Amino acid sequence: MTFFQLGLIGYPLGHSLSPLIHNAALAACGLQGSYSLFPVAPDDQRGLRDLLSRVRARDIAGLNVTIPHKQNVAALTDELTPAAQAIGAVNTVYLRDEKLVGDNTDAPGFLSDLKKVRGEENDEGRKSALVLGAGGAARAVVHALLGEGWRVAVSSRRNEQAQGLVASFSNSQKLSTCNLQPATRNSQPATFNLIVNATPLGMFPRADETPLPNAAFFHADLFVYDLVYNPRETKLTRQARTRGARAAGGIGMLVEQAALAFALWTGCNPPRETLREALDRQP
Ligand code: NAP
Repeated sequence: MTFFQLGLIGYPLGHSLSPLIHNAALAACGLQGSYSLFPVAPDDQRGLRDLLSRVRARDIAGLNVTIPHKQNVAALTDELTPAAQAIGAVNTVYLRDEKLVGDNTDAPGFLSDLKKVRGEENDEGRKSALVLGAGGAARAVVHALLGEGWRVAVSSRRNEQAQGLVASFSNSQKLSTCNLQPATRNSQPATFNLIVNATPLGMFPRADETPLPNAAFFHADLFVYDLVYNPRETKLTRQARTRGARAAGGIGMLVEQAALAFALWTGCNPPRETLREALDRQP
């Protein structure tokens, strides 16, 4: 029977939930294997190359990649999927037809969970989203939303980062930056019917923070998706609900992006509920 050695490259990796999810997936699919953490320091190019060569040698069946290597790994693969290319970051690596492929499951993982929690609404003509943050996850979210016909405004604390993101999706007319500083606000809060938090603000242990202190953004026709999954209910999602909006945290995306990677590595599509239950069981 094939043994699936899987794992995660990143640094630091102390609190990763990925082993829990993927070990649950292995069990649910009746596969033998193990999911290991491979901490690789930010400047350790050799460590990165060694792990990737183990994928080439089929010693490792698949790798996830997280901060700070999502961009570095892209340059070391043989080919990038269209999603990884557009996003400029890799979170999943595997061997296909003897080629080392860099893929990104954050975008489809986000989209799939968004549709699940928000519902497939008939919102043609009013697809207007605000994305908070302009890092790797924001890029995946923007790619996913543009592909579904959304107009997207990106806001980040360093405006040049948001401008850089917008410039790199240069073929899109539907993407702009949005400055949320009160003095220069160039957008009407209530015009957004989706707000996505792609910053770490609100994440444990700083759960009292929110990326959007301005309550004027919340209205009954708004859906707020917070990529933060620890805690499950963030200050942002709580405040949005209190003001009549609907909201969800990022745990569903975490499960979905993992399940999509797992299917690419093993050919087995793991049951999402089982992975979710494994996460819910942990203290
Ligand atoms: P990243 O590449 O480091 O980007 C983070 C973004 O947030 C940057 O624009 C950063 O700006 C901004 N930011 C950081 N601290 C901030 C602060 N105190 N105030 C305002 N802006 C701040 O990280 P990422 O990979 O995109 O991840 C972002 C968040 O999404 C993390 O919490 C991560 O856990 C979560 N995430 C969740 C999933 C999921 O499956 N649910 C998947 C991916 C990521 P600067 O560059 O100026 O710091």
